Amino acid sequence: MNPSPRPALLLLFLFLLPALIQAGDDPAERLAKAYPGFIKGQQGGDLIWSDGSQMPLDDGRKKTFDQLLDEPDIQDQFTWTYPTGPSSYSPPGFNTDPGRVRYEPLFKKMYGADSGAVQRNLVRVRWMPKSANSTVMITRVNGVDKKLEAVSRELDALPPSIRKYAYPTAGTFNWRPIAGTKRLSTHSFGTAIDLNTKYTDYWKWDKKMAYKNQMPREIVEIFEKHGFIWGGKWYHYDTMHFEYRPELLNP
Ligand SMILES: [Zn+2]
Repeated sequence: MNPSPRPALLLLFLFLLPALIQAGDDPAERLAKAYPGFIKGQQGGDLIWSDGSQMPLDDGRKKTFDQLLDEPDIQDQFTWTYPTGPSSYSPPGFNTDPGRVRYEPLFKKMYGADSGAVQRNLVRVRWMPKSANSTVMITRVNGVDKKLEAVSRELDALPPSIRKYAYPTAGTFNWRPIAGTKRLSTHSFGTAIDLNTKYTDYWKWDKKMAYKNQMPREIVEIFEKHGFIWGGKWYHYDTMHFEYRPELLNP
């Protein structure tokens, strides 16, 4: 008697299930989906770029919090899941900073290895023409300028009481290390924007470092929809700060 094919199929499905569940959480796969013009996938533990070059995903080291920030590898960028949705606005847990870990060679390769190289990719975007009517400089690499234009249009359509938090802007491109560190600020790559400082809360400005936020969810949700993460979801909060990190948002 031939065994029914069904148990075999079921077994195969159960065998594949973990791979299916993990697929969205694979760092290389997330990066390839987020940056299809640059990244192809992985092979033998290396991230494979479209130009054929490779970068190791994992240096195999266990790290303290400071080491994660100062000496990350690519997969360390995914140490914490960036939360989205209505339940994602409670104060972040101790040292939970999804997006603050950045493997610099990855960003330098995409956006430019020095100030001049980044600046050659900057373009002017009109910021909220109906309300702020200013301009900001942002990179065109990965279509970030187009994403920010879409953000700007949607912010401009919000009620005045909400959109006032989004202008005047407080800076986009600035090639500089983060104060007190050797790490480059993500503003160095022309992929970040700071909004109205009048309503901002920043961990370094607060002696007590007790989480606070004034930024309306409507604004955060618009940015997230277009691939930008928000610094208000970090334990080391920076609520005026948004940066283009689509690999951390739902694929
Ligand atoms: Zn910022």
